[in-house]
Amino acid sequence: MKTTSTALPSARHQQQWTNWGGNQVCTPALTVRPATEAEAVAAVRHAIKEGLGVRVAGSGHSFTPVVQTGGMLLDLSGLQGITGIDASTGRVRALGGTTIDRFGDPLWEHGLSLANQGDIDKQAIAGAVSTATHGSGIGLGSFSSTVRWMRLLTGQGEIVEIDETDPERLHAVQVAVGTAGVILELELQAVEAYHLREQITYETTEELLANWDRNPAESRHFSFLWCQAPESAGLYELPTPEGLDMVGRAYTKRYWAESLDESDGQALTSEEGRRRDRAYRIYPGGFMLPFHELEYYVGVGRAKEAWVALKDLIVEDFPDQHYPIETRWTRGDEAFISPFHAEDKVSLSVSGAPGTDYWPYLQAVDALLDGFDATVHWGKIHLLTRERAERLFPRLPDFLAVRRELDPHGVFLNDHTRALFQ
Ligand SMILES: Cc1cc2nc3c(=O)[nH]c(=O)nc-3n(C[C@H](O)[C@H](O)[C@H](O)COP(=O)(O)OP(=O)(O)OC[C@H]3O[C@@H](n4cnc5c(N)ncnc54)[C@H](O)[C@@H]3O)c2cc1C
Repeated sequence: MKTTSTALPSARHQQQWTNWGGNQVCTPALTVRPATEAEAVAAVRHAIKEGLGVRVAGSGHSFTPVVQTGGMLLDLSGLQGITGIDASTGRVRALGGTTIDRFGDPLWEHGLSLANQGDIDKQAIAGAVSTATHGSGIGLGSFSSTVRWMRLLTGQGEIVEIDETDPERLHAVQVAVGTAGVILELELQAVEAYHLREQITYETTEELLANWDRNPAESRHFSFLWCQAPESAGLYELPTPEGLDMVGRAYTKRYWAESLDESDGQALTSEEGRRRDRAYRIYPGGFMLPFHELEYYVGVGRAKEAWVALKDLIVEDFPDQHYPIETRWTRGDEAFISPFHAEDKVSLSVSGAPGTDYWPYLQAVDALLDGFDATVHWGKIHLLTRERAERLFPRLPDFLAVRRELDPHGVFLNDHTRALFQ
C-alpha cells in the first residue's frame, strides 16, 4: 500500500492520536486537517486512490475506538463556524467541526438556544451528533434528533445533501458513528432562547426512589449522580457541602426554564447550586480528571428496577468501584441506530478508574443491563456485538442499507465499526 502524500502537502505522517480519556491511541499513516471543504474532498479522494481507510476525529471525547485508524485521520477542527441562522424557523447551520460552545452567543443574539445540552460543550457538533450525545430531560431528545439537514462527503468522494424530504436517509445519517461519510455541514432545529434556574440537592437513595417518576416530570432537566463511597463525588469533581456524608446520597441537579430580565442586575446569579443564567452558560460544566465511562440506556418502564439492580451490584460485588452512577432521562427519537430509537430512555452510566483493571466490573454491568435490553452510547465503553445490535436496534438493516449506499467500499469503516456495521 502506498502512503505518499504529494497531493496533500499539509498531511502529517505517523502522528500519534489520543482521545480525551487516554484509553484510545492510534498512529495513522496520514493525518490531514482540512481548512476548507475543498481540502476535505481532496483528502478523501486521495485516501480512496491510495487505498487508505478514513476516520474522522471530532474533539476526541469518545471512549470507544471510533476514531482509530491506521489509514487517514481527518481532523475536522479546522472546519468550524456557524454558517447561517434563521430566527424565523429556528434553524441553525454550522460546519461539522464547530464545537458546541461556539453556538451559544450567536444563537442568543438571534433569540435562540440549543434545545438540550450535555455535561460538557467541548465536543464537535458532528462528533456529538454521530454518537447521539444527549443531556437530561424527559421531554428532550439528543443532539441527533434535532438534525434537519446534512452535507456529507461520501465514500466515493462525492458531496450529497440529505434533508427532511428524504426521512429514511435522514434517520440513517442522524446517528452513524462516522460510518456514512464526513459531515461537512449540518442544520439543527434550535428553540426559543431560554434562561435556566438551577437547584442542586443531595438526596438520599430512599428520596430518589420515592420520587422516581415525579422528579423528571417536574423540571426541564433532571439528573443525579449517586455516590457509593466517600470519594465518589470527588472523582467527578462534584462540589458537596462540608461535613455531609455522601455515601448513599446523590448530587441531584434540577433546572427550570425561565425568562429573566438581564437588565435587572438581580436577575442573574452565579451562586453555586442556585445559578440563574442563560441556558448555554449554566448547563455544561467541565471535567479535569480523566475517567473511562460506560453508559447504557434502559426503557423508562424498567429503569427504576435496573437502577436498583445496578446499585446493588456495585455495593455487593464491586465495593472498590467508586465512580458515581450518573442517571439521566432522554426522549425517544427516530434515528435508526439511535439508542433512543422509538422509546424514552433512562441513561445509567458508571466509570472505571484509568490505570486499573476495571474490565471485570464493566463486564458485570454490561451483563446486568443486557438483561434489561439496554442500548448503548456509541461513544462510551460498551460490549455490544453485531448479534446484540441486531436484537436491540430493529432498524439496523435500514441504517446499513443507507450506509452501504453512501460508502459502498467501506472507506469509513475501522475494525471496531466494521464488526458492528459492515
Ligand atoms: C468529559 C466528557 C463528558 C461527556 N459528556 C457527555 C454527555 O453529557 N452526554 C453524552 O451523551 N455524551 C457525553 N460524552 C461523550 C461525547 O459527547 C461523545 O463521545 C461525542 O461523540 C464526542 O464528540 P467528539 O467531537 O469528541 O467526537 P469524537 O469522539 O472525536 O468522534 C465521535 C464519532 O464521531 C465521528 N465524527 C466526528 N466528526 C465527524 C464528522 N465531521 N463527520 C462524520 N463523523 C464524525 C467520529 O468518526 C467518531 O465516530 C462525554 C465525553 C467526555 C469525555
